[in-house]
Amino acid sequence: TFKKLIAGNWKMNGGLAANEALVKALQQGLATSPAACGVALCAPAPYFAQLQSLLAGTPSLALGAQDISAHPQGAFTGEQSAAMLKDFGVRYAIVGHSERRQYHGETDDAVAAKTAAALANGITPIVCVGETLAQREAGQTEEVVKRQLAAVIHVNGHCISEIVVAYEPVWAIGTGKTASPEQAQAVHAVLRAQLHHAASEHAAGIKILYGGSMNAANAAELLAQADIDGGLIGGASLKAPDFLQIISAAA
Ligand code: 13P
Repeated sequence: TFKKLIAGNWKMNGGLAANEALVKALQQGLATSPAACGVALCAPAPYFAQLQSLLAGTPSLALGAQDISAHPQGAFTGEQSAAMLKDFGVRYAIVGHSERRQYHGETDDAVAAKTAAALANGITPIVCVGETLAQREAGQTEEVVKRQLAAVIHVNGHCISEIVVAYEPVWAIGTGKTASPEQAQAVHAVLRAQLHHAASEHAAGIKILYGGSMNAANAAELLAQADIDGGLIGGASLKAPDFLQIISAAA
């Protein structure tokens, strides 16, 4: 297993033709310079079948989802279960992204339950935490991210060693305002300490990704921080040259 993970979050972007062009360009790039990190593509659910087939010969590119249901099956209109994701070879699921928390009312408890559903089905949850600008300015950053992670730890107990955490300051998402490496590292260290308390010796191996306007120009500096184990990349993951450059920064 690689030390670092670079995950692209395509959000609600793409289409049959665009996906194929992007994946082929990534495959071409990685054929000449293979990734020295794990790489995941978190795509919109309607394209899982397409991506499963495009990625069939490329195990180094893992398929990911952007959400997962907490429930196994039944009357949950619009949701996708872990078993459905597994049918298409999905290996990762983003859980509790700030856009889900903001626009879909996902609570800390819901995020914890979704994390449990992923873990129970062998899908690696990428659990997102992060403060808003108002919370940062009010000096609440630590308190907010700790509360968000604590809910997930509380429900998932020792299985916590199987999760990936993503620190995504809400004010840095899609704004072009990246957290400075020092700002990011400071929060990552807080999260690492919290994980250490919950999972002792396993905490060092839990990946904590940074997300929020990470791009080809700033990735290396962020990824050089002691507790930054990868990135969750939105906008820059839609452009093959940029995403490939971020991947090569994650040796
Ligand atoms: P951007 O990289 O577009 O800021 O998005 C970050 C993000 O939300 C990834 O999940």
